Amino acid sequence: MITKYNKFVNQELQQYLNNHLNRKDVEFEIIKSSSIKEVKEFFKDDEINDINIILLKDEDWIDGKSNPSESIVDKSLILFKKSKFDNQHLYWLVHEISHILHFKKFGNIYSNLEYPKNEVEYFAFYNQFKFMRNYMNLNNLQILNVMKNEYNYRQGTELQYVLDFFEKILSDIDKNIFNDKDF
Ligand SMILES: [Zn+2]
Repeated sequence: MITKYNKFVNQELQQYLNNHLNRKDVEFEIIKSSSIKEVKEFFKDDEINDINIILLKDEDWIDGKSNPSESIVDKSLILFKKSKFDNQHLYWLVHEISHILHFKKFGNIYSNLEYPKNEVEYFAFYNQFKFMRNYMNLNNLQILNVMKNEYNYRQGTELQYVLDFFEKILSDIDKNIFNDKDF
């Protein structure tokens, strides 16, 4: 799966990651997202060919970020925490790829959007949940339980607010509709 250990090859990327992570000489590995079979099958899309995954050691992971992944949409890059890069967490990759595809199509519309109830996150979670169903064989309840664990640092009404949004997405998938405007 790993195509290149790239510490000395790509100076520009090295510099970018050092700055982005505020570290010196970040070590990283580059993986093409299209080299991951399930992901390539799921998107069925040549657009993912130029999307690269940067694997980072856990100790180099972004300060204060609990998610194991982050997309840098204008560079078609996904940063991923190495210890979480396994079949169990591939749905995060699907989520981040979706952000990049959305950016390619619609540009940067992130600013002033309420999180997470917005069309950008809708698109990302819609694909993520579909992937969790079709490739991880999880049902709606199991998907919500995974998400509850991912969001377990949130409390009470805030958690419920997010779960309502997730339930709406799952129900849209059930009905085989895509409705990213009506939350
Ligand atoms: Zn997102």
